[in-house]
Amino acid sequence: MEILIEKITAEGTVFEFEKSVETFPVLAEMVANGECKFAAPIRTILRVLRIGDMVEIDGDIETSVHLPCSRCLQPFQISLKSRFALTYMHRAADGIEDSEHQEVELSAEDMGIVYFQGEKINLKDTIQEQVVMEFPLRALCKQDCKGLCPKCGADLNEDFCDCDRRPSPGKFDVLKNLKLDK
Ligand SMILES: [Zn+2]
Ligand SMILES: [Zn+2]
Repeated sequence: MEILIEKITAEGTVFEFEKSVETFPVLAEMVANGECKFAAPIRTILRVLRIGDMVEIDGDIETSVHLPCSRCLQPFQISLKSRFALTYMHRAADGIEDSEHQEVELSAEDMGIVYFQGEKINLKDTIQEQVVMEFPLRALCKQDCKGLCPKCGADLNEDFCDCDRRPSPGKFDVLKNLKLDK
């Protein structure tokens, strides 16, 4: 997932990558931990422009995963899509103290500029980061998923159960007592 600077033309160049999940350590770990399963490789299209020492990258990433629903625990499939834009700036080995570089680079980072050295830019970590950020915090198989019965565990999307799921009256008694104490 490297872009060779010399391959970028003045009009802009499109790079395409299709990589298996195993290529990305963090994603492979999520699979190993049982957090998800990937249903497709990670596809990336990068539109790259070079302006002097600057390289503008506009990228689209797409893949598909199986996730357990956070309410009913049933696995379901969603596609993850990410769009990102980054500006890379070439940093020559110029003998300037590293601490000085770090200061400049920290403020450049705020503006979304990433420094690179040498003749190529490696996008692997960036692509991985983008995919991780696209995972939903609370994945739902559908917006109105009814979830599981907290008492008998029945999947309420498919089953009915006779459990009384109203809060038990005992809890209200406790509240009443608290009020009396004051
Ligand atoms: Zn669900
Ligand atoms: Zn139940």
